[in-house]
Amino acid sequence: MEGTSLLSLPEGMRVEHIQITEHGLVIEVVTVHPTSCCPLCAETSDSIQSHYRRVLRDAPCAGRQVQLVLTVRKFYCRNPYCSRKVFTERLPTFVEPWARMTIRCCQQITSIGLATCGKGGARLAGRLGIQTTRPTILRRIMDLPDVSAGSVVYLGIDDFAFRRGYRFGTILVNLESHRVVDLLPDRQAETAAQWMRQQPDLAVVSRDRGGEYASAASKGAPQAIQCADRFHIIKNLTEAAQVLLARCQAEILTSLQTEASQQDHPCQAVIAIEEWRPPEPAHVEKVRLARRAGRYARYQQVVELDRQGLPTKEIAGRLGMSDRTVRDWLKQAAFPEAKRRRKRQSSFDAFAPYVLKHWQSGEHNGLTLFREIKAQGYPGTERSLYRYLKTLKQVEVRASVTPARIQKYSAHTAIWLFVRDPKKLNAIEREDLAAFCQASTPLKKAYDLLQDFLSMVHKREGHRLDAWLARVAESELPELQSFAAGVEKDTDAVKAGLTWPISNGMVEGHVTKLKLIKRTMYGRAGFALLRQRVLHAV
Ligand SMILES: [Zn+2]
Repeated sequence: MEGTSLLSLPEGMRVEHIQITEHGLVIEVVTVHPTSCCPLCAETSDSIQSHYRRVLRDAPCAGRQVQLVLTVRKFYCRNPYCSRKVFTERLPTFVEPWARMTIRCCQQITSIGLATCGKGGARLAGRLGIQTTRPTILRRIMDLPDVSAGSVVYLGIDDFAFRRGYRFGTILVNLESHRVVDLLPDRQAETAAQWMRQQPDLAVVSRDRGGEYASAASKGAPQAIQCADRFHIIKNLTEAAQVLLARCQAEILTSLQTEASQQDHPCQAVIAIEEWRPPEPAHVEKVRLARRAGRYARYQQVVELDRQGLPTKEIAGRLGMSDRTVRDWLKQAAFPEAKRRRKRQSSFDAFAPYVLKHWQSGEHNGLTLFREIKAQGYPGTERSLYRYLKTLKQVEVRASVTPARIQKYSAHTAIWLFVRDPKKLNAIEREDLAAFCQASTPLKKAYDLLQDFLSMVHKREGHRLDAWLARVAESELPELQSFAAGVEKDTDAVKAGLTWPISNGMVEGHVTKLKLIKRTMYGRAGFALLRQRVLHAV
């Protein structure tokens, strides 16, 4: 194959010589096109004045660095009216007039820079056979031409943090083309309004519930409909509900503890269903007991040596233990039992509540129960089921409201039981949710209000908002009432958000991407570089 096409050189170039050195390839190339155009008057000339050499860095070839030694020519311009007498021939698609690097090599460096960062990019480029430096990469990114936002009709606007909690910027997304159209260096109303004034076609501004962007849109794009973003509305509602949940959870636990302390003889053979584990096989129990005995013997040695007055370090050294364990053991008044391993998740867990319910209502036939759960999609074998039944025969398993059931959730995790689609909860989560609602009337009321609001959001039923707000006003749930008060300040935009199909979800996606880009730059890059990288991100 001919070298020119093998190396993808433009037409009119010929490879004269290829030399492999320890640094890579040195390729000598000459231009052979018989004519060239004067850059000033565009007239063709075929009178060669002289030759000269340019040394260029090129894109790597099979992982080797490539140096092009290019012989180009100078031509006479024969146009008598042209002020240029001599010109050098141009290779516009291949290399800029005074550049030391081919255009394709520049493009590769730019792509590496956009995908990584200055320092990491220089390292990666080196591995790929392109010699470059961090400043070069950063310069390439900064030299990229500004992309025009074009005409934006549906705008999504949100903030992002340069430094979390300290300095914020604004991201603007065209909700039709799904592209980031600009970044602004702050999140002030005036800056965003200024940007919107240059967009006469703006018809809808989708924004969060913060006042700044609302006032920006009123000032900068008074013609546009403002749409409070559903994501933020739900986020606000979830936060309000979480506060409510934390309060009610504390109340439930207090009342349960009072109940428990009033009971004289706690029933020991009761385990909560989620704590259920299959009985230990004999050989496992044997190993566990042996291990416990060894541990106990060591514990006694530690105590004895401590009694003799040996320092912790010395004890640890003699017994081949870590200082820390010795210190921890001595701190405790009694033998510290090893922690039992956490129960392993099994495919049977999701079916345990079902089996329990039927067991308690009198179905004690293993095979029948097995067939029933199999029909419901249980993928496992009979063994897990029989082990579970064995436990049921020995102790009472209870699936009712127990402190453990409520305690295992923080308000932060429990909120998901309340705001998720109930169809997507598994059997245990559904029972946990029922336990919460059963234990607290306000929680039950809140659950109904939350689910109703979410269905309004999903079905785009903005017209029901006023009725919902009225129900909250009567609910005696102060946390939801303060959420409702916030909504009432911004009713039109919230209603629009609950009615229009557009959403800021895409903007959130871009913010996540932006964070990733910011992180690859180790957070040191200034706004200008961040803006270039986000706007040119692929
Ligand atoms: Zn000319």
